[in-house]
Amino acid sequence: MKRPNQTDAIVMGGGMGGLVAGALLARMGWKILLLEKEKQVGGYVVSFKRGDFTFDATGSFIGGCEEGGTFHQILKEIGLQEAIEFIPVGRIQNLYPGFEVHIEAGGFSAYVDQLLTLFPEEERGLKEYLSLVKRIGDEVKSYSEITPIRKVLFPFYFKNLIRFHRTTHQKILDRLFKTGEIKMALHTLPVTDPPSRLSFLFVATLISKALMEGVFYPKGGMGKVTEALAKALLHAGGEIFLQTEVKQILLKDGKAKGVLTKDGRVFESPLILSNINPNHLVRMLPQESRLSLEKQGRQFEYSLSCFVLYLATDLKLRESGLPYFTYLRSLSDLEEEFRMMQRGEIPKNPTLIVSIPTLLDSSLAPEGQHLIKTLIVCPYHYLERWRAGDSETYHRIKEEFSQKILQQLESKLIPGLKEHLLFSEAATPVTLERYTGNEQGAMYGLASTPEQIVNRRPSHQTPIPGLFQVGHYTRPSHGIVGASLSGLFAARGILQKIKKP
Ligand SMILES: Cc1cc2nc3c(=O)[nH]c(=O)nc-3n(C[C@H](O)[C@H](O)[C@H](O)COP(=O)(O)OP(=O)(O)OC[C@H]3O[C@@H](n4cnc5c(N)ncnc54)[C@H](O)[C@@H]3O)c2cc1C
Repeated sequence: MKRPNQTDAIVMGGGMGGLVAGALLARMGWKILLLEKEKQVGGYVVSFKRGDFTFDATGSFIGGCEEGGTFHQILKEIGLQEAIEFIPVGRIQNLYPGFEVHIEAGGFSAYVDQLLTLFPEEERGLKEYLSLVKRIGDEVKSYSEITPIRKVLFPFYFKNLIRFHRTTHQKILDRLFKTGEIKMALHTLPVTDPPSRLSFLFVATLISKALMEGVFYPKGGMGKVTEALAKALLHAGGEIFLQTEVKQILLKDGKAKGVLTKDGRVFESPLILSNINPNHLVRMLPQESRLSLEKQGRQFEYSLSCFVLYLATDLKLRESGLPYFTYLRSLSDLEEEFRMMQRGEIPKNPTLIVSIPTLLDSSLAPEGQHLIKTLIVCPYHYLERWRAGDSETYHRIKEEFSQKILQQLESKLIPGLKEHLLFSEAATPVTLERYTGNEQGAMYGLASTPEQIVNRRPSHQTPIPGLFQVGHYTRPSHGIVGASLSGLFAARGILQKIKKP
């Protein structure tokens, strides 16, 4: 394939995947045009202002930011390793029915140490679990740098990837552990699937790539990460057009030729990188070219969505001893909770995922005030039922739900919160969908079941020549690091195939 000479590549959507791929290609001298439908780039990874408060729209932390870590390496390739200050998330607490796990500092090994003191009888299983995670992590690492000889000798070098490719987390937990408590504690991951559905390979990759050395918070808010990536892209000569929604992909002789935007503009380039949902991408193609992409997308299952409550308070939270991150679970049956969600229901006492970023970075709010973000995993269709009524009903029910969560926060975690509330706003799955184009407000793109991991996710090169895709629906996985890796791998693949300037 010969390298194009006008706009070398158009990136559709400025989420983590699109920004990383765009910034990397721009750094290699490519002329990049990034088209983003919103007023800012970032997708899920954005901050927003309300008065003097800076809230994170979605995420709470990023893994692999330590020197040599996966995310650090990606930033280094873009020249951004010094651009963002990452604050280690030291203390976290996980509160379960009947027991608690607290860690003061460190990553997954520190977490396992705590589990060992709580469940000494599970020592053997824990050691085996940690060892499996490490072995799989090593294989995943060498898979990402695979040499021709290792490809030929795949079964020899990648024994565990082969052995566990169809294994669920449940299978491993049941094999290694006796009690339900430890299984629950080990399933406290940034996922929306229960153990019976979640791929163990995915779990091991997530832990070894992003959680092993602890997690981090970018100073200034999560949006600082995508702001830095956008700056890098611009600095390398790329362009970003905001409020520019792509409506159609234009093809010539079956190959990518450009895009048509919602406001009727045409941008031409023989190389297009899509950072959007693959099902949506199909609908942007001419009817006769949809079949090849439709085939790979038809059976995909999305992850669940969530409700996010953004609060501000003047309570003295630093003195209260609360950590930055709290996972508060009231139900012990993970499977039943998921079944409820599949029926479109939310439990009476849903799991609360609470972060207080002002404990790490006081610049996000005026002195003496704190921000609290609470996330509740929930099904999109629950909201759809709310939406079935008029908009007034929707807002009333959204407010009722916010009040319910506020009540739970006050009674279980932050006494006096209601009286000291300075600000409250909420986002529903519909909000997430509207701002990012993620259908059904899917938090993590595709569910990480054994059927939808690694090479069973959409590949970066689509069947249409010149059309590539990145983001959390594609390989390797979801999350900020997963989506960034998709951008890195896609950019590398493109650079290998297409002649450099
Ligand atoms: C509530 C919540 C909490 C999370 N917490 C964490 C966390 O703590 N840590 C973590 O690692 N991950 C977390 N995640 C997951 C993580 O944020 C995502 O997996 C990742 O950011 C997805 O990146 P992406 O590249 O797929 O792009 P997306 O974020 O999906 O962005 C896609 C972009 O494309 C744009 N776009 C869409 N359609 C068009 C169009 N037609 N034309 C132009 N532009 C378009 C959108 O506006 C958007 O900017 C969380 C997600 C959610 C929802």
